[in-house]
Amino acid sequence: MDTNDSTGTTAPVIDIRDVSRRYGQGPPALDGVRLTVRRGEAVAVLGPSGSGKSTLLNLIAGLDRPDSGSVTVAGVRVDTLGEAASAKYRRAGIGMVFQFFNLLDDLTVADNVLLPAQLAGIPRAEARRRAAELLDRLGIGRHAEAHPGRLSGGERQRVAVARALMNRPALLLADEPTGALDSAAGQDVRDLLTALNADGQTVLLVTHDPVLAESCTTRTIELVDGRIVRDTVAVPR
Ligand code: ADP
Repeated sequence: MDTNDSTGTTAPVIDIRDVSRRYGQGPPALDGVRLTVRRGEAVAVLGPSGSGKSTLLNLIAGLDRPDSGSVTVAGVRVDTLGEAASAKYRRAGIGMVFQFFNLLDDLTVADNVLLPAQLAGIPRAEARRRAAELLDRLGIGRHAEAHPGRLSGGERQRVAVARALMNRPALLLADEPTGALDSAAGQDVRDLLTALNADGQTVLLVTHDPVLAESCTTRTIELVDGRIVRDTVAVPR
């Protein structure tokens, strides 16, 4: 199947053209990758260890640059941004969720969720309102004043998702979001991602977990040796 989804009429959320990235003299980590992700898709990137998944995620997040090709996310040419513009893009354009949550334990749950809005210069009262709304929507409102260390893994990942959504990103990126969770909490996070995507959130996640890939995404991409070898669109839920 063609790796480009040419259906739909809106501008793509992710438009990656002929991207290659090589570290030192090794084989390419990514080798001529082309990928278009449209608004409302939930894409899982699967592949064995070393196949280029993290490299792809880092390029989309503007944390790394390709040697050739272009990376455009929500209309922004990410691969040519300077440092300050790149940081601004990460604050406003994308939300990121990590395997180990990356929450600040010195701050309350509410303040963790607020932080991206504060960094983006949104007035505190408005940010507090939005954080409270998100925490309620994600079912963790009662923990707003707790510190993340007091919460279960599944609850912490919900807080991390709330934080990622704070600035209404065009794209939610997740790196092994269930990788550190037991199976019940993993299911909880899968359900949450499915619900967010059903509400229209575009999602791209990297995972080793085929259950995660199948249960909460609309499309699965498989990388091997830095190339997309499979691109499968799921039957609509
Ligand atoms: P995955 O996330 O699928 O495990 P990666 O994107 O981390 O794969 O790695 C792809 C390839 O690039 C691997 O061969 C890896 O060793 C290499 N690589 C990744 N990051 C670096 C780096 N910072 N320096 C050197 N080689 C790297």
